[in-house]
Amino acid sequence: MEVLVVGSANADLVVGVERRPGAGETVLGTDLAVHPGGKGANQAVAAARLGAVTALLARVGDDAHGALLRESLREAGADTDGVLGGPTPTGVALITVDPSGDNSIVVAPGANARLAPDDVVAARALLSRAAVVSTQLEIPLETVVELARRLPPECRLVLNPSPPAALPPEVLRACDPLVVNEHEARFLLGASGGRAGSGSVEEAAWAAALLELGPRSVVVTLGARGALVASREGSEWVPSPAVRAVDTTGAGDAFTAALAWRLARGEELVTAARFAVRVGAVAVTREGAQRSFPTFDEVGGVAK
Ligand code: ATP
Repeated sequence: MEVLVVGSANADLVVGVERRPGAGETVLGTDLAVHPGGKGANQAVAAARLGAVTALLARVGDDAHGALLRESLREAGADTDGVLGGPTPTGVALITVDPSGDNSIVVAPGANARLAPDDVVAARALLSRAAVVSTQLEIPLETVVELARRLPPECRLVLNPSPPAALPPEVLRACDPLVVNEHEARFLLGASGGRAGSGSVEEAAWAAALLELGPRSVVVTLGARGALVASREGSEWVPSPAVRAVDTTGAGDAFTAALAWRLARGEELVTAARFAVRVGAVAVTREGAQRSFPTFDEVGGVAK
């Protein structure tokens, strides 16, 4: 297997509103739209749609949202044997969006909060077959710690610390790379007493400061500007193709999944990032998260 994603699976419940309600207020909205989401499921769908041999280790509930998530994964071609069920409801993100595109989101983690270190232990067969494991922080931190401990020697860990949280050194040391957006970079450097947050710090200096936290390599995603890739050997900026962005939801997940896949195929980090920015760029030209993820042919022009 090329990519094992260990992470969250949510149903995104989206309602359009003229105005987001204040305290004690009720407003009427549009019809409810239900989309498969959660960073783990998004990454697994993104990788599988590109053609990666992909599996997801996650927890959903024995409910309609869980079925929706399994279906979207299967449709993309991802292995769902590691998508565990149970009585706790599937995680849900309640999203209201106003006409300007601003949204308010409440997440009920549900079954995601039950993805336990023991689930990682029980998934040793999946883990032993993975070239790259990609994870995020929408699952319990102790599960990510267990994953870092149980990583087979040849297997690479890609971690996107979202939502940001302080990471134990043993997790940081296992990352190759740590993938952060500007907000996550600021959080990690701030949390460690680093220099970010002043607004004047160059991104290359961020990457260098992040490397000092222990990861073997770092990728800082910079939205429309692409990504900065850094390791002990130095740093390199990988520009994004210029596109007309209509919806950036899920761009980070598409980017990280593409990066993980190319690393699994043995590419150098910079080469993998050059592919990943193209995938991210296609994703932002389309509405939605999983719906926006391209196939390999849609990325175009890159030898497989
Ligand atoms: P999100 O939370 O929206 O999923 P993110 O904040 O985690 O994304 P970004 O740095 O915004 O991460 O985007 C990830 C990658 O997606 C970028 O490195 C870039 O390759 C691509 N991307 C994002 N926005 C644009 C854009 N406007 N034009 C082209 N590419 C983009």
